[in-house]
Amino acid sequence: MNGRVIGAALALATAMGIGFAPGASAAAVTTLYYSSSGAPDYLAQIDQGAANWNAAVTDVRLVKRSTGATIVFHETHSGGSYTNTNGHGRGDIYLDTSQVAEGYDPTRIAAHELGHNLGLPDHYSGPCTELMSGHGPGTACKNANPDAAEAAKVQSLWVNGFAAAREESRQVVH
Ligand SMILES: [Zn+2]
Repeated sequence: MNGRVIGAALALATAMGIGFAPGASAAAVTTLYYSSSGAPDYLAQIDQGAANWNAAVTDVRLVKRSTGATIVFHETHSGGSYTNTNGHGRGDIYLDTSQVAEGYDPTRIAAHELGHNLGLPDHYSGPCTELMSGHGPGTACKNANPDAAEAAKVQSLWVNGFAAAREESRQVVH
C-alpha cells in the first residue's frame, strides 16, 4: 500500500476525532504514564496500585513508562507519603519508607496517592473500604482498591480526557 495514502487517511481520522463532542466517543480512554524507578523499594506495589485502578475504571488507564511519564514516583524517609499534583494526571508522588516501617501498606499508599493524581480528595474519616481514607483506618487496613463511589467519581472526572491539565495548579496533599 502507498504510505502517503495511509498517512493522509490517518490525518483525516485524527481531524475527525477532534470534532466529536466530549464524551461522545465510546472509545475515549486517556492513557496516563507513570514512572516508578525513583521508588525502587516499591516497584511491585506501585504496579499493583495502578492495576487496581485499571480494574476499577475504563475512562483512564495507568501505564508504566520510564520516559515521558507525567506521574513520577519517588521515595522519602520521613514526614509521611504525599503527592504534589494538579489532580488531573500530572504529579510527583513521594512514598515514605518510615510510614511503611510503621506498618502502613505500601500498595494502599501507592494507590491512594494515585487517587489524588486522578482527582480525588482525602477522606480520612472514611472506612478501610475507601482508598482515600488513607491512614485514617490505621495500619491494620490493607485495602488498596477504590470503592464503587471512588471509581465512579474518577470515571466522571476523566470522561473528557486529559484536557485542561495545568502545572501551575499543583498542590501538595497527603
Ligand atoms: Zn491523601
